Amino acid sequence: MNHNMSYELSEKLKKLTPYNPVSGDYKIRMDANESFVTPYQEYSDLINLAVSQVALKRYPDPYAKRTCEFFARYYGTDPEYVTAGNGSDELISVICNAFTDQGSKAMVLDPDFSMYKFYLTLNNCEIITFNKNEDFTIDTDRLIRECNSNGCGLLIFSNPCNPTSLGLVREQVIKIITSVNALVVLDEAYMDFWDQSLITQIHEYDNVIMLRTCSKMMGLAALRVGFAIANEQLTTVIRAAKSPYNVNSYSQAAVSAMLAHPEMIKEARRKLLIGRNELYLLLKDMAQSKNITVYPTCTNFVTVAMDNAAEVSECLKRESIIVRDFDGYLRITTGKKAENRALFEALLKICK
Ligand SMILES: *Cc1c(COP(=O)(O)O)cnc(C)c1O
Repeated sequence: MNHNMSYELSEKLKKLTPYNPVSGDYKIRMDANESFVTPYQEYSDLINLAVSQVALKRYPDPYAKRTCEFFARYYGTDPEYVTAGNGSDELISVICNAFTDQGSKAMVLDPDFSMYKFYLTLNNCEIITFNKNEDFTIDTDRLIRECNSNGCGLLIFSNPCNPTSLGLVREQVIKIITSVNALVVLDEAYMDFWDQSLITQIHEYDNVIMLRTCSKMMGLAALRVGFAIANEQLTTVIRAAKSPYNVNSYSQAAVSAMLAHPEMIKEARRKLLIGRNELYLLLKDMAQSKNITVYPTCTNFVTVAMDNAAEVSECLKRESIIVRDFDGYLRITTGKKAENRALFEALLKICK
């Protein structure tokens, strides 16, 4: 077809690379930080019942009110401060849309979750990157200095961090929040595995939006539900900027059913932490003889530095085990006992 007018893609769009999760059939999946826990039958029944009662011809509750109430009760905050999203991914996008303009300066950390850069780029922000220390720790004084001296209006990072698995303690995060002249987006996707959350007090700060997700510890990645927690003023903006029916009724029903049963969540968490500890110890054990560095972990995965990480990851694929590799590191999500063991055996074989 011939058109008189041609459409030129902007440089930004030409450079855009889609998020590329691993696809294909692998027996053991340790790449996406999902949960390996299968809920007990009685709990599956509860969730199925909740979902079966959804009125398909009706639009969902635009504010997922009930789900936010259950969330607030479980985590010890107030539903007034909570907004539900179609995964925390959507909320990152909504926040970037709402709180940045073309040319806004935003700070991301490196390494950190790649989607921050993705949404900031789409919004034509100027991205300033703060490099973490060699050992992945964060020099918070330097971070504060660089954020302020560059005039960044937005600072976004994950705590605990994906992909490093390291965490900043509360005092450090509070110091950052109270010292930068920026809106801080504090992504606590993995805080369910650690004990340094600021969720009960985050609304006391007028420059912080916290993100949480049901995709990791809760084991509900398929449903795409995440939450933003912030004071009333920021919450009003987030709610105004999101699309009206962003969380579908099945997801609202299932997440509400789950959050109404804290014992189910606690049991899942317990199993995941046991798995994580097993995996950590297996890798630590191996590190003594091989040239591997194992990082401390505050999450459901273990990060290791090793020679030829990309190659090792390819070898693991041939054993039908999938992990995530990045710049000379492997990020390995805990599986169940037998899976952790299988990974360990495969690594021993490969590293010989
Ligand atoms: C997995 C992950 C998310 C995305 O969670 P969804 O709620 O599934 O969109 C956000 N932040 C970090 C750091 C993650 O690892």
